Amino acid sequence: MIQTTEGIVLKTLTFRESDQIVTLLTPRMGKVAGLARYGKKSLKRFGSVLQPFNILEFQFRERPHSSLILLEKAAIKIPLFHIYRDIYSIVGSCYCLELMDELVHERDPNFEKYLLLLNILQKINNHSLPLPFLLRWYEFRLLTLAGIGPEFRHCIKCHAAIEDDCDYQFVYWEGGVLCPPCYVSGKMSDVLRGHDVLEFMAFMDSFDQGSPREIEKHTAVQFRKILHNFIHYHLNKILKSQIFMESLRSGISCESSAFA
Ligand SMILES: [Zn+2]
Repeated sequence: MIQTTEGIVLKTLTFRESDQIVTLLTPRMGKVAGLARYGKKSLKRFGSVLQPFNILEFQFRERPHSSLILLEKAAIKIPLFHIYRDIYSIVGSCYCLELMDELVHERDPNFEKYLLLLNILQKINNHSLPLPFLLRWYEFRLLTLAGIGPEFRHCIKCHAAIEDDCDYQFVYWEGGVLCPPCYVSGKMSDVLRGHDVLEFMAFMDSFDQGSPREIEKHTAVQFRKILHNFIHYHLNKILKSQIFMESLRSGISCESSAFA
């Protein structure tokens, strides 16, 4: 039986010259891999739409005794032409896809994760905020949806509220901040100023309320490092797109402040 649904292309692999395996994030099946026979050649059925970060409507069949679906036809559902305007938007979008791919399991539907990816790609496409802000929001929200959201609202041990003029330790294996009396040295951690923590959480709240406020560059850099280290700690690897972002940042110094 042919079914129709929508999905976002996370990655595409070509084999046997013209067949393609396409990994999609869908609203009701979660992450699913599909075989597109002659995907590279069949312009009538697929055009050239089986590419990462395309948002598709596609027809498919389930295959007996296989988790791989058979793609029959696909077309762009929501165009995102502006993502291609610059290298930063492209690599930032690839990073969003790669991080999502790592933090979802096959056939484990999560509508909120789907909406989050849809949302971030549209925001990058619309250039609604500087890319670093968009990526920090996405990382924090995705980690939370994956059940490993870091705790910045209060000390994770004594639950004392964060104070502006106090220094905290972000402890990676505990996934949150510890106040000075609760912190025992020796654990893998980084220092975070209370002022930066409060500013970052105010930014997250303002973003969710639809009127994001900008944050100081120092705070943005600090939280980029903390969140990237935290993701590295959980995945036990550095994502390829993240390495590419780092090389862009260090190689093009005049534009680096505008990048993630
Ligand atoms: Zn404490």
